[in-house]
Amino acid sequence: MFSRAFFRIVTLALLALLSQACTRKPEEIAMGSVKCSHCSMIIQDARFEAQAMTSRGRHLHFDSIECALSWAAQSGENEVSIWVRDFSRPEQWLTLEDQSSNYPTAILVRSPRLRSPMGAGIAAFGNPTDAKEAAGRLSGNVEEKSQIITFLKKEWAGANR
Ligand SMILES: [Zn+2]
Repeated sequence: MFSRAFFRIVTLALLALLSQACTRKPEEIAMGSVKCSHCSMIIQDARFEAQAMTSRGRHLHFDSIECALSWAAQSGENEVSIWVRDFSRPEQWLTLEDQSSNYPTAILVRSPRLRSPMGAGIAAFGNPTDAKEAAGRLSGNVEEKSQIITFLKKEWAGANR
């Protein structure tokens, strides 16, 4: 016979699952404590941090936007949410992929002078003025996500053999 404690645990687990299904939002991690799900480097710089959440509610953490996009391209996962940090206000999350998100849309800037962890030079901004200013200052460009993905595919075609 199942004990009352057992049912309590099952009920709590179900509630946890349900609440996870309803709230799709990034979770906070401590810098220097988690490895990137794509390249296994330690995530140390919040300005470039990215995070994905699968349709089943699994969170994946990345040290860079380039790693999140590369993972997304290879994962075969549908309906993922991807969030990235605002480079100029790292406490602010932005949406890179998710139609139902409550976060501002990420505007991507690419410049070789943005020293992102994997060297692709990609940062995100929540404010178009900030993005344009950074692109101008760093001799870079504001780019669409599709342009960035095309760039990454070319850039890493040799490295990821
Ligand atoms: Zn990485």
